[in-house]
Amino acid sequence: MDRDVQVKADPRRELPQVDMLINALKEEYPDLFPWAIKHASKEAISEARKNLETGAEPVDLKKRAEELARDLCTPHPRRVVNATGVLIHTNLGRSPLSQTASLAISEVAGRYTDLEVDLKSGRRGDRLSRLERLLRIVSGAESAFAVNNNAAALLLLANTLAAGREVIVSRGELVEIGGSFRVPDILSRSGVILREVGTTNRTHIRDFEEAINTDTGLLLKVHPSNFQQHGYVKEVPLAALVDLGKKVSIPVVEDLGSGLFASDEKWGLPRETDVASRLNTGVDAICLSGDKLLGGPQAGIVLGKNHIIRSLKSNPLARALRLDKLSIAALDATLRDTLSRDSAQGPPLWFQLSVRIEKLLENAQNLGHLLEGLEVPGLFVQVEKANAPVGGGSVPGFAVESAVVRIGGGPIGVESLARQLRSCPVPIMARIQDNSVLFDVRTLLSGDNEIICNSVKDLLSKHSRKKG
Ligand SMILES: *Cc1c(COP(=O)(O)O)cnc(C)c1O
Repeated sequence: MDRDVQVKADPRRELPQVDMLINALKEEYPDLFPWAIKHASKEAISEARKNLETGAEPVDLKKRAEELARDLCTPHPRRVVNATGVLIHTNLGRSPLSQTASLAISEVAGRYTDLEVDLKSGRRGDRLSRLERLLRIVSGAESAFAVNNNAAALLLLANTLAAGREVIVSRGELVEIGGSFRVPDILSRSGVILREVGTTNRTHIRDFEEAINTDTGLLLKVHPSNFQQHGYVKEVPLAALVDLGKKVSIPVVEDLGSGLFASDEKWGLPRETDVASRLNTGVDAICLSGDKLLGGPQAGIVLGKNHIIRSLKSNPLARALRLDKLSIAALDATLRDTLSRDSAQGPPLWFQLSVRIEKLLENAQNLGHLLEGLEVPGLFVQVEKANAPVGGGSVPGFAVESAVVRIGGGPIGVESLARQLRSCPVPIMARIQDNSVLFDVRTLLSGDNEIICNSVKDLLSKHSRKKG
């Protein structure tokens, strides 16, 4: 008797069976894949069971299962509109590729390729030799190599040149990039012993001189990609480190983070981004990302002396860090774009960096007019100048002038509007500032104005319908 009562009182019994939920969803949403419905239904019921146990608010089971199933049926990553003004946004996939690079990927993605075949002889070829040739041509470096990303490049360099030995780095350059990349952690995992010298704000060449001993394997310089120090500061210039390295026969490497090959004066970027001038110091090797200022795919590019690159290639770790064919295709295309210097074909970043403020204000006016044309009661639309950071661990403290369209005061609160913009068919990432939503036009690509306008229209009209 007692047992019976207990069973009845268990609310878990009231949860529908998985099969019932699955059938209901299948009937109502024929657009969803059956496998997604099945998995989502199980997940939703198990969530509901946990909610009951913890006493959390019960949720609409069917709604929740539909949400989970839709999520499974949506591709990831998805195209979004970048209205943040941050040109190289790591969370938004960094640099969009040039048309040449995008085509190169789709050309080879679904087909067999000559990735590791020498078509002339029919023998086995090297997947990177062509890319390395382009890298040498574009940079003037003696030799070149490429791996999966810049973190991998640094790992491989440290492991190859100094495993079991000391790597000397300035305390001012032990940087963290984006939370998951910390120079000291990568170094320790690469099997070297980190030897920090100097202080947070000042490091002298004599700090390096005094730290050098028979165990020293490498002198490392790291570009502080996402912060700037001001005031009583001093860093050791690369050239001075290179001189010291030569004197004591210890290799010198710089992790440049981001770099530019076709450094165009009119972009007004600081000199530190220029790859050629770094190599001219006689540094043994530098490494940089493919998807920062270069505007290519994710990749880690190493440029340097023949003997250094040769030993990188013979390290077994190189195989674990190697580039895949799609990235090779895209990087190859990006380098050809760079050599052609055809800004109509090149990465969007080139245009975004060089476009004039007058043109941006004009674009912002256009978007502003579109939004005003919606005639939403209470909505204000304002066009103004702003500053757009380059972002993505490239040129800290350097911002380019930009133009924004500011909206607010409409029927939906600003936070909620921004959230709803992110759940549009093409999600829109905007900035929130001073109780308004800002669309920065410097990062908008062609067609984005219309997407923004249509999305705002849909959201606000849906809202007034609900009200009415
Ligand atoms: C961005 C950056 C990295 C990491 O590069 P990934 O290509 O993201 O792996 C490493 N070092 C520096 C200095 C950077 O700026």
